[in-house]
Amino acid sequence: MLKINNVETYYDLLYALKGVSLEIAAGTITAILGNNGAGKSTVLKTVMGLIDDQPEKGTIEFLDRRIDGCDPESIVRLGISYVPEGREVWEELTVSENLLMGAYIRRDRAGIKKDLDRMYAYFPVLKERTGQLAGTLSGGEQQMLAIGRALMNAPKLLLLDEPSLGLSPLLVKTIFGIIKTIRDDGVTVILVVQNARMALQIADFGYVMENGRFVMKGTARELMEDKDVQEFYLGVKTDVSAKGYQRWKRKKRWR
Ligand code: ATP
Repeated sequence: MLKINNVETYYDLLYALKGVSLEIAAGTITAILGNNGAGKSTVLKTVMGLIDDQPEKGTIEFLDRRIDGCDPESIVRLGISYVPEGREVWEELTVSENLLMGAYIRRDRAGIKKDLDRMYAYFPVLKERTGQLAGTLSGGEQQMLAIGRALMNAPKLLLLDEPSLGLSPLLVKTIFGIIKTIRDDGVTVILVVQNARMALQIADFGYVMENGRFVMKGTARELMEDKDVQEFYLGVKTDVSAKGYQRWKRKKRWR
């Protein structure tokens, strides 16, 4: 469904993506793992055409069509929706207005109504709050609203940046459960996360990012069973030494 081939992205002089390649199959959840500043969010922003004059190098294909160099609105119209880190719901609009704004490119009224009901089925708490201003929702409710709004565009591919950030473990579990349902309902998902454990539990595939490059990829199970991933991303051992980490970074290459 999505093919990123050797993409390089800069923020002015900062070399943020250093030749990134990734392939996403339809009907899957792919988790992109990595520490702060690794470049995970930049991958999603590059796909969405949100970085000026980008990408500097490489190609991006969505459903066999080149989208690198396209503007964000054209990319949304082709069927990719994006939930940024921090949600960015419209605080002055109500829950239902936010959801309907997500469908602004659609004209099929019956389909929009059906999808609105579907969002309320995914997120019953939003149904109880249709008339409430989004700015007054809790963090978890805002995250649900942001996902619901993105789905109202009826996307084929959903990009989620840190959907669990700042949420309680119970809410994270709820939201990740819904992401799985969304995949089962036919939407392909790319998930950017620091919370690797929970993400790998629902994902089909995973990529590990370090310093602007993917250093590992595999099925979610393979990554979960990998000793280095366990140590550096799943916190299985508590005696992670800085030296060991540097050694791991030096030796890590595609597997
Ligand atoms: P986090 O989990 O902390 O969000 P990340 O893996 O998503 O990290 P990115 O946000 O993609 O990382 O950032 C990659 C690099 O690009 C970082 O060094 C960051 O400081 C830099 N960067 C990100 N956005 C901008 C920007 N708008 N202007 C300049 N540099 C940026």
